[in-house]
Order: sequence, then C-alpha cells, then structure tokens
Amino acid sequence: MDNNLFSLFRTRFPADREVSFLETEDGRLWRYRDVEDLSGRYARLLAELGVAKGDRVAVQVEKSPEAIFLYLACLRAGAVFLPLNTGYTRAEIAYFLGDAEPRVFVCRPDSADALAATAAEAGVAAVLTLGEHGDGTLPARAAGLDPEFPTVTVADDDLAAILYTSGTTGRSKGAMLSHRNLGSNALALHRFWGFCADDVLLHALPIYHTHGLFVATNCVLLNGTGMLFLRHFDARRMIALLPRATVMMGVPTFYTRLLGHPDFTPERAAAACRSMRLFISGSAPLLADTHREFRARTGHAILERYGMTETSMLTSNPLDGERIPGTVGFPLPEVEVRVADDQGRLLGRGETGVIEVRGPNVFKGYWRMPEKTAAEFRADGFFITGDIGLIDQLGYVHIVGRAKDLIISGGFNVYPKEIETVIDGLDGIVESAVIGVPHPDFGEAVVAVALRRAGRDDLCEAAIIAAARQELAAFKVPKRVFFADELPRNTMGKVQKNVLRERYRDLFRT
Ligand code: AMP
Repeated sequence: MDNNLFSLFRTRFPADREVSFLETEDGRLWRYRDVEDLSGRYARLLAELGVAKGDRVAVQVEKSPEAIFLYLACLRAGAVFLPLNTGYTRAEIAYFLGDAEPRVFVCRPDSADALAATAAEAGVAAVLTLGEHGDGTLPARAAGLDPEFPTVTVADDDLAAILYTSGTTGRSKGAMLSHRNLGSNALALHRFWGFCADDVLLHALPIYHTHGLFVATNCVLLNGTGMLFLRHFDARRMIALLPRATVMMGVPTFYTRLLGHPDFTPERAAAACRSMRLFISGSAPLLADTHREFRARTGHAILERYGMTETSMLTSNPLDGERIPGTVGFPLPEVEVRVADDQGRLLGRGETGVIEVRGPNVFKGYWRMPEKTAAEFRADGFFITGDIGLIDQLGYVHIVGRAKDLIISGGFNVYPKEIETVIDGLDGIVESAVIGVPHPDFGEAVVAVALRRAGRDDLCEAAIIAAARQELAAFKVPKRVFFADELPRNTMGKVQKNVLRERYRDLFRT
C-alpha cells in the first residue's frame, strides 16, 4: 500500500496534465505536467545527494513555485521537508540545523556564503540554493536530470515534514507530521469546504507555515485545479486578482487591510468579489467587527477555522449553515475536540477550559523531545493544545486565548478575550489587547492596550475604565489602559502578547 502523500495528490491530478497549477503575478504559468516533471527532477537530485527515506531537508527560501516543487520532491523521495521562516537569523538557523541534522540544506543564493560554515558545523552533507525567481544551484543542477522518478513508498506514519513551532518562550520545538497526518487533514478540508472543478485559489500566505503550505496548497493539489500565487500580500494586487479567483485563504490582517484599502469601496468590493465562492480566515482570531464589515461590504460571510502547527486544522465554521463571528465552528470529521480543566477533568458545554484534541491529523510528537511530547498528551491520546476555549450549546467552539496568556489577578482567573470584547465594543475603538503584568498586591494586574479610530483621541483611559466597570466584575477591569497606533504582530497576524508584557513589565514595580 502506497501511503505517500504525493501519490494521493497524483490520484487527483487532472487527466489533462496541461491544466494550469500555478500562475505567478508576472504571468508565468506552471501546469500539472510541470508539477510532475520538476518534483521528479528535484527528487532525483536529492537522491543523488544521498537523501534517503527519513532524511531531513531543511529549507530557508523566499516564496516561489520552485519551493512548492521542492516540498513535493521531498515527499516523493521519502524525505522530511523542514521549512524555516525566512526571518530566522544565522544563530537561529544554527540551532535548527544542529537539532534536525538535515542531510541537505537549501537556502537563498545571497545567504549561502554566510550559512555555509554553519551548515558544515551541523554536519549537513550538501548546501543548495534557490532564489525567488527560480535561480540558484538547485534548479540548475536538477535541470538536466530525468524527470521520471519512482515515488518512494512510505508507511502512513512515516514523517513527511517537521515544522518548528513559533514558540515565544523556550526553545522552538519541531512538530513531526506524518504522511497520514497531512493527508487526512487535506482530504477533510477539501471535502468540508466543498472544493469543486472550477475553483481557483488566491494564495498570498507564506509557505513556511502550515497555513500557506498545507492548508492552502494541499487543498489545491487534491483538487487538481489552479492557484494565483502572490509572493506577498498586497491589498491592491489582491483586489485586482479577486475577479479571477473563487477561494481565498488569509490571516485576519489580510481582511482588515483589504477593508482599509481605498480601492475596496462598497461598489468595487462587490464587483471584485463576484466570482468568489469562499473567504477563509485563520491562524489568529478574526474580530467579529471585521467579519460584519466584510459581509456588509462584499456580501460574503468569512468562514473562520482553527488549527495549529502540531495538529493541522481542527475546527471550521460550516460551508452550509451559519458562520458565527467570534467562533471557530465545529470539529472537522474524524477530529475529536473536548474541553478540560488543568487536571484533565472534562468540562460541560459552555464551560471554559483547555482544549484537547485527538484524530488522524494530530502530530506524532516533538522531534527529539520525548518528555515534552509525553507532557502534552493525555493517557488516552488527546493532545493538550494550550488554547483556552469552550464549546457552546450549539456545538460551536470558541477560542478565548492561549493558556499562557491567562491572567491570574488576586487569585481569580481573567480571560483576556472577555475584556477585549468589551473594549472592542466601545464606540471609537478599533481593537485591543489585554495582558497581565506583575503587581505587588494582586500577583498580576490587568492592563489593556487599545487602538482608537482616527479622530477619536478624545477617548481617554478613564472613559474606558469607567465603561469596563459597567460590564465587568472589578477584578477584571483594567488597572491601566494605554493607547497605541498598532499592536505588535508576527507574520501570521498573531498579536505578540509577550512583547506587550515585556513593554509594561515594570509598570507596578516599586
Ligand atoms: P500556529 O501553530 O502558528 O499555527 O499557531 C496555532 C495557534 O494559533 C493556535 O493554538 C491558536 O492559539 C491560534 N489560532 C489559530 N487559528 C485561530 C483562530 N481562528 N482563532 C483564534 N486563535 C487561532
């Protein structure tokens, strides 16, 4: 039985291999024939470099079609694809190469000199380069090779990829994802989101992260249709390309930036979205306000879903049925989701606790961290996500935030989302982030950072605190409110609360 994820994709490729797979913004086109040939050539090159089943191939390159073919080549060669955030520094790369011990490292042409010694120290056998325009030694050396490559047969729990989590505390952990993990999730999403024969995906996400690499690209490959491939998100270009697309996947900031763009007026937005079937959001919470505003502007209810690197996607709002703003919908088929207290005792509907999950999508553990892995799984196989949330009476899952962002003030649990929702609801506020900072009496004190709408500088700290008092118990009311022009976010649009905590660390220190 061939459990290789590439073989699964291949069963779904269009019979006519001239069908378009990927088009770049400068009009270059790759067809399914190219997907097979280029992934075959790259796989052959990896094999010639000694890459065998289970060997890691670490990759730190700009987004390009060739980087997708390299991912597929790794699958075909039975290797473990290990994409790295393009923002990582040399010191960080040294850690990842030392930890993962890849056989091959593919980097940007202009960082090859600087990283060669680092790779050699980590025992990497070969360094190749790949530039954003398809330049570099990888495509050059693969060019003359035979495109016929027999895809390596794998067991379903053989590794397909390792993705390092963007941990903000401690060492980054490598999440080990098997062919089955990725395949089962791709099949579930493809079905759940109703992919069909004429779908075209608008792809502007980075491809070193689960969202752009697996959620978006794997759905397209399973569908055997095309995608419009943008190197970066650019609101103007997105608006220009929307009329040629049917599905868009984005992080919440994509939607706020589209809404804020002068070309996205109600008339033009409606016209631009005429061919669109589905807008999907994930990787960070989508504000209910953004959901409503986008619907008013375009007529489309954004479908919000929830997942993480370790598990791929877990829940999704329905394709047919109500997409409720502020919720992440229902567990996907075959995915079990439950809410427990920190001792692992199950909680009922409507009760807030830690989200635990189980299913064929859940990863095999952290690379070379057996203790860490064991600590994050329950005895019955459920993975403790570290997200706090609840399941409401209708079965919709709500995410309240990360467990590490929970505030304990005067011995009481304070869920930042509850306070953020109250502040966000005030007239004149765009959004807010609530954090806990050390306090001599309370242990932690609740502090809010808010963004005001343009022209609303009159809205002051005292007014927000007074409004919060109307709605919240005293221990939840922010002790201080600060104003900012923007919230610190990472590339996936997540608010970096650790940065805010650091900023206000000494606020109550005497
Ligand atoms: P990552 O591993 O980088 O994909 O981050 C996963 C984390 O992002 C999850 O554990 C959640 O905390 C958060 N996340 C993902 N999707 C959502 C969502 N729709 N709403 C709220 N948080 C989300």
